Amino acid sequence: MASERPTPPVARPVVHRDVVCPFCGLGCDDLIVEEEPPATLAVCSTDCPVARERFSRTPAAEPPRVAGVPVPLAEALEAAAAVLAAAQAPLVAGLGTDVDGARAALSLAERLGAVVDHALSDGLYRNLAVLQRTGWIATTLAELRNRCDLLLLAGPDPAALHPRLFERWVAPAPAFQTPPSREVVFLCGEPLDATRVTLSGLPVTVLAGDPAKIGEAAAALAAALADPSRVTGAAGIAAEDIAALAERVRKARYAVVAWAAAAFEAPHADLTVERLVRLVHDANRHTRCAGLPLAGHDNVVGVNQVCTWRFGVPLRTSLAGGAPLHDPHRFAWTRYGAVADAVVWVSAFQPEVPAFSAGQTVIALAPPGTVFADEPAVFIPVGTPGIDHAAHVFRSDTVVALRARGLIDRGLPDVAAVLAAIAGTLPQEAPAC
Ligand code: SF4
Repeated sequence: MASERPTPPVARPVVHRDVVCPFCGLGCDDLIVEEEPPATLAVCSTDCPVARERFSRTPAAEPPRVAGVPVPLAEALEAAAAVLAAAQAPLVAGLGTDVDGARAALSLAERLGAVVDHALSDGLYRNLAVLQRTGWIATTLAELRNRCDLLLLAGPDPAALHPRLFERWVAPAPAFQTPPSREVVFLCGEPLDATRVTLSGLPVTVLAGDPAKIGEAAAALAAALADPSRVTGAAGIAAEDIAALAERVRKARYAVVAWAAAAFEAPHADLTVERLVRLVHDANRHTRCAGLPLAGHDNVVGVNQVCTWRFGVPLRTSLAGGAPLHDPHRFAWTRYGAVADAVVWVSAFQPEVPAFSAGQTVIALAPPGTVFADEPAVFIPVGTPGIDHAAHVFRSDTVVALRARGLIDRGLPDVAAVLAAIAGTLPQEAPAC
């Protein structure tokens, strides 16, 4: 009689629950991620395309490279330190990293006398410029979910950048509204298809208008709030629709005006933000109202927080002169990158590094598998926060730092460790006389 062989056990995926997603400013903390050994991840609890795509990118580790040649990590660190020791105008930018990585990047920049900026600070500065000029009344995601009864979404649907905004923060009934109710108005924007589904059950009004003229629509609404006899149409929205919306704002118990400045396409988008901030200000003469700027991809909000608490000024700062010098125009990486002679580019969340001019020496810290237009002088593969190592990242509303845990071990160093090691390899500074 033939003996029966035992069937080998089928390997089951490891299931990670309550996973924090570090990839956009919503900071969803409820993901279920399946891990197929050795290091394949799949998000199975949400259709968020950003989370699905980012968590699935886990190619195997690869060795660092110097001038395109694979080398041990110690050799890459020495090559990076040699480049930076000779640099006259260094730039430490990209800064797609967690809080620890940002701290290490700023320490290295301080040692080098470098300019610091984040790859996505354009969108951030459309908001910060207004905050610096006029101040604002802003709220949190929790207030949106628990108190807001009228949500005005200004401009392109923020769900394009923050896919679970409605599911997590708008569709749930407000806990502190009696009776719970919520209405959503799209001002100069239209909901994405997926959003229509998610919003089912909530009254939704779409005031389609020219997305390049959001500021004009906001100004017309502010004028109608102040004086109903001064109602005019704006941005392609009829005067009677503006009047009806003004009336709705007056009756709201807690209105929130939300926008994603990174999605604004008109030039001088900070002026659009300023109009929205002014609308919020004026609406408070009639009811409670707050703004909610949505941002935070690749921890841009967290890195800016670290820079501010460390130096007293936000990103786009030069550390070359002994004291931090903040200039949001001059020290934008897109501008300073044209004159920097050495660039440390950090992009731990995504395998994308911009092309720099010939003659600039680039040291790139990015995930394995990053494809470069031009091979950098030094490439050091690093782990992704929230995938390869535990990490703190900030939510869009700046008040909550989330701790994401590591899920897999590909043997990749984290940004903080690599930058600290580069700093430790730099020549010692001569003691002051
Ligand atoms: S909405 Fe943002 S934080 Fe939430 S799962 Fe998608 S990418 Fe992650």
